[in-house]
Amino acid sequence: MSQQTPNLLQMLGQLIATPSISSTTPGRDMSNLSVITLLAEWLDNLGFKTEIMPVPENPGKANLIATLGQGPGGLVLSGHTDTVPCNEELWQSSPFALTERDNRLYGLGTCDMKGFFPIAIEAARQFIETPLAAPLIILATADEESSMSGAQALVDAGKPKARYAIIGEPTEMSPIRMHKGMMMESIRITGNSGHSSDPSLGANALDAMHSVLSELVKYRTHLQQNYTNSAFSVSVPTLNLGCIHGGDNPNRICGQCELEYDVRPLPGMDLSLVREDISKRVSPLEDKFGVTIDCQPLFSGIPSFETKQNASLVQMAEQFTGHTAQAVAFGTEAPFLQELGMETIIMGPGSIKQAHQPDEFLALEQINPTVDILSKMIQRYCVDAHEEHQGG
Ligand SMILES: [Zn+2]
Repeated sequence: MSQQTPNLLQMLGQLIATPSISSTTPGRDMSNLSVITLLAEWLDNLGFKTEIMPVPENPGKANLIATLGQGPGGLVLSGHTDTVPCNEELWQSSPFALTERDNRLYGLGTCDMKGFFPIAIEAARQFIETPLAAPLIILATADEESSMSGAQALVDAGKPKARYAIIGEPTEMSPIRMHKGMMMESIRITGNSGHSSDPSLGANALDAMHSVLSELVKYRTHLQQNYTNSAFSVSVPTLNLGCIHGGDNPNRICGQCELEYDVRPLPGMDLSLVREDISKRVSPLEDKFGVTIDCQPLFSGIPSFETKQNASLVQMAEQFTGHTAQAVAFGTEAPFLQELGMETIIMGPGSIKQAHQPDEFLALEQINPTVDILSKMIQRYCVDAHEEHQGG
């Protein structure tokens, strides 16, 4: 049966030739179903049980849960099937044709992160005749690059269930056990316009915004005095004032003003508490300025994430790679898998430096060591899994 599943480079070639761009700009957003179908077919051929899970209210998007073996516990190897958009004109070769040059494989998604799937499948292929004490699950998600709706749908459905999860985002195979969260939020202030010569004729949204900005800057100082984590290169939570739009003319009282900002909370900071804090701080300004202030998330946000240094998966990954687990600055689906009850780390081939760039590539030298480390993980958590119970 296994010969029906193509070899690693053929699989990668097909995945790269199957565009699956996620974009918050509706005209540029694409379905990921062709990628999901390819993966399901290959894994099905290898004896995995495959379940394609449509993402509710998101037609054209689906997750794939492919399971080898059965029972509780086990290991998830997880990746996202979508890529960011690209500027094709800036690429040396087509982003949708896998191209080998200088011992590198070029193509959109080679490192972030379609490349992880053929490598994970290659590692899994070695175990298809082995009786597994706990299941091996290959998980492929939708919309990681835009809304995280695929990961959210998994949390809502309460599956997959496993004990451990490795997300193969590009970390050059160094284990990552922490990242900050990410929130993008807006504050819309609605006042009343009127002739600028008499302020009593209206309610100035820009005046109110001036105070809102002061509150946010004070809140930022408060956060940075109260939270710090030296594992991060920027050791404090950040709050960035990103853009502002308001008013139309110097001689009109500004009737409306809108601000967009982002917050990067540290592990241990809850997104909903940050939202509550901000809302509490700005809402008294409504009465003061006679305006309405509407705080809205621009998307549901990515929680921060931390797996303890002494967790089994962290220890094992450190042992197999020889690298100490670190923190990264980018957000992932890890907090969602953690919410499903899995001990989770991020560890995959390729470098984040090449992600979201023209001429994205995966260095060929990353492939075999990654297959090797993933195989050791499968051996440990799916084949020798009974040691878990004995270790208690
Ligand atoms: Zn990614």
